[in-house]
Amino acid sequence: MADIDLLAEGKATGFVRVPHSVHRSAYGWIPVPIVRIKNGAGPNVLMVAGTHGDEWEGQIGLGQLVRSLEPKDIKGRLVILPSANFPAAMAGMRTSPIDEGNLNRLYPGDADGTITQQIAYWVEHALLPGFDYGFDFHSGGSSLTYIPSALAARHDDPARKAKVIAMLKAFGAPVSYITGAPQGGGRTFSSACHRQGILSMGTELGGGGLVTPASMKVAEDGMRRLLAHIGMLQGPAPAATPTRLTEVGGDDYYVYASDGGLFEPLVDLGAEVSAGQPAARIHFHHTPWRQPETLAFKRAGLVLCKRVPARCERGDCLFHLATDVAA
Ligand SMILES: [Zn+2]
Repeated sequence: MADIDLLAEGKATGFVRVPHSVHRSAYGWIPVPIVRIKNGAGPNVLMVAGTHGDEWEGQIGLGQLVRSLEPKDIKGRLVILPSANFPAAMAGMRTSPIDEGNLNRLYPGDADGTITQQIAYWVEHALLPGFDYGFDFHSGGSSLTYIPSALAARHDDPARKAKVIAMLKAFGAPVSYITGAPQGGGRTFSSACHRQGILSMGTELGGGGLVTPASMKVAEDGMRRLLAHIGMLQGPAPAATPTRLTEVGGDDYYVYASDGGLFEPLVDLGAEVSAGQPAARIHFHHTPWRQPETLAFKRAGLVLCKRVPARCERGDCLFHLATDVAA
């Protein structure tokens, strides 16, 4: 489906063509931008952003990387998909306006499925094989905001675990975390990488549908430090920055809305909270004379992620915590 050769030497830009026959365009295709930069032997690296269309730092950062890198600047093969769910990115939404597909919940995809299922199928089965590393740059999107973070799945194998932690440290986000039970189970990009034996790392760079100078600096410097760390980027990389190594475990790390209403946070991002500490109040529109519901943190930790919109429904994630681990 890509209209450029993804294995050839040199730099090429083009599109993954996803056939889409609609009223406006009977024989048309959706153009998902793709770039290949290759210079001889070296690591094979896939960098992806725009898996969720309303997460911007990765999309801007990868665009900057595409414009600034030439083959002489790297060793190996770099393939970049700056807006993987392109229809979602154009709509500024987490999911595709065509099929409501959430690309990070649809792997391994379906060749005969909806547009987003077809993109997932192509990434997992046609694109991923042959890569050593897969990096997926997310942010909190419209509904969440994060302390800019890098993350990776838990590895039991000591050698892989050491490599993953070294990548998180190289990226150098203010916080890094290991996920015990990632959201999305086997349907995520990182699961797809795992099935192909590819080492993967992701990010959560800010959120709220916003871009800030601070979150862009984490994104752009981190991408370059990461590529230098794995031996791809030649020449100087941005200076190293420290990261706080944490983990995000199971249900007790999360606070969910117990009712629909208005979410009033009682702490902000970066707070250090204790078990039982009040996290939020839910206020009731229809019955403002009713006492708000107070929700508490189930355990101690660092407030890494917070919901953005005040309006909430039962089941919405309001916060999640992270806890320190030894490096
Ligand atoms: Zn995302």
